[in-house]
Amino acid sequence: MEEAPKKLNFLEEIIEDDLKSGRVKSILTRFPPEPNGYLHLGHAKSLCINFGLAQKYGGQTNLRYDDTNPTKEDTEYVDAIKEDITWMGFHWAKELYASDYFDQLYAWAEELIQRGLAYVDDQNQEEISRGRGTVETAGVESPYRNRTPEENLRLFREMRDGKYADGEKVLRAKIDMASKNMFFRDPILYRIKHASHHRTGDKWCIYPMYDFTHGQSDSIEHITHSICTLEFDVHRPLYDWFIETLGIFPSHQYEFARLNLTYTLMSKRKLLELVQKGLVSGWDDPRMPTLCGVRRRGYTPEALKMFCERIGVTKRDQLMDIQLLEWCVRQDLNERSNRYMVVQDPIKVTLTNWPEGLVEWYDCPLNPADPEGPSRKVPFTGELLIERADFMVDAPKKFFRLKPDGEVRLKYTYIIKCDEVIKDANGQVVELHCSYDPSTKPGSGEWRSVKGTIHWVSAAHARRIDLRLYDRLFSLADMSQVPEDKDYKDFLNPDSLVLGTGYAEPALLEDKSGIAVQFERTGYYIKDKDSTLDHPVYNRTTVLKDSYKPE
Ligand code: ATP
Ligand code: MG
Repeated sequence: MEEAPKKLNFLEEIIEDDLKSGRVKSILTRFPPEPNGYLHLGHAKSLCINFGLAQKYGGQTNLRYDDTNPTKEDTEYVDAIKEDITWMGFHWAKELYASDYFDQLYAWAEELIQRGLAYVDDQNQEEISRGRGTVETAGVESPYRNRTPEENLRLFREMRDGKYADGEKVLRAKIDMASKNMFFRDPILYRIKHASHHRTGDKWCIYPMYDFTHGQSDSIEHITHSICTLEFDVHRPLYDWFIETLGIFPSHQYEFARLNLTYTLMSKRKLLELVQKGLVSGWDDPRMPTLCGVRRRGYTPEALKMFCERIGVTKRDQLMDIQLLEWCVRQDLNERSNRYMVVQDPIKVTLTNWPEGLVEWYDCPLNPADPEGPSRKVPFTGELLIERADFMVDAPKKFFRLKPDGEVRLKYTYIIKCDEVIKDANGQVVELHCSYDPSTKPGSGEWRSVKGTIHWVSAAHARRIDLRLYDRLFSLADMSQVPEDKDYKDFLNPDSLVLGTGYAEPALLEDKSGIAVQFERTGYYIKDKDSTLDHPVYNRTTVLKDSYKPE
């Protein structure tokens, strides 16, 4: 049966209509990060939408830094953002900066002043807010609202030339103090900020506001579809007003629901606080929802794209289940990752009938989906380590792993039988004496099967590795519901990082795949950058099994 064609999302519908009607000839979108932090999973959704739509309809996407706030921005972030977008596999047409448009924006501000559509206001922030009124009541006009264009022009130039201190004056548009839309009540266009900018240095001490920057920047670049999150829909009329009033290229804005995830916070301000207070090891701590964090955790761009595809694009805010993201990660890694055996909490197994000193090497597939594909060499000897949890003294009937007088298959090799349990003075099991059945070697003669198969490593060949077992950073599912008398930091999960040790088959250390690997039967892990030759460190990407199934 043929698959039904996928229903278009509302943005695809708009774009197809625009192409059909001829409103636009080709699609140009933009991704507009403010360089005041690292990109996070929410940005991944925005990237998938902006770059994804352009790709689908043969268009292009600009990377435009929305850098109008000199005190919070930094080139460290500029560079990190590019690295993350590239990692996601997206290519921008042009790398642009809103600050490159400061001259043009300034000229437009003077134009509005000359046309009587903007004025310099001497009120302070508080007076301006109060004067704006409320949704129910009209605002009151500023006493400075009726300055002449000549006076406004002189004052605005003096603002630009550094004659006034921060906050002493602002430039406002002169629109309508009684408008139903609060954004029309004489919005601020420029504020004074004596601060160095990461690109323009000390050239400016006045900086344009978001609303006076974004639409015009879109217009300058001839962006056809300016796609942003829902909270900007109230800004749209003002976005249109500037473009119409200035008579410039008609870019249009469209809004979609931002990504919210359970057990996750995505506000850059709060993520920065976690970093600054040392509550995480940095922006790339593997528990962080940042793209550099999830990358270090072992998540793949393919998994993130699969996730964004599945959640789709809607106009309604909702909280997505982080388990769906984890499921996507498992789906992707299950197909692609290499397998290795690692024992985390070992018991020693001695094979009493194994020929002294004999080492057998097994060729084991790196991925079971491709049994004839690349393999790794796994050594087998008479002294092994198995997982403590795979042995039980008083085992229930349904326990199919190793138990006294019971048999189990060692993955890729023989069936062994437990003949004797060695305990220490406290009754702790310290060693098992087992015998192997030579006739059960895979590929030799008859195949005898037992119910359980367990992983193992040869004790003499095992490589000790450090493990970082990560879990969710927060313990509250809906982080927008932090009670008023509490702080979001009260919900940090104390067990989000547990340290462990592993004993790995030697081939693990030679893995060159560059993505997370599967530790057979336990989970996906990725080698961390903190590894040294003597101390390899592996981060747990996710556990292997989970009862979660997407709808
Ligand atoms: P934050 O609130 O985390 O600081 P922001 O919106 O200020 O984020 P920007 O750098 O301005 O971050 O965002 C760049 C683009 O990414 C914007 O178009 C913004 O709408 C989008 N974006 C930000 N957060 C999300 C999210 N959670 N889901 C989808 N898109 C997002
Ligand atoms: Mg922003």
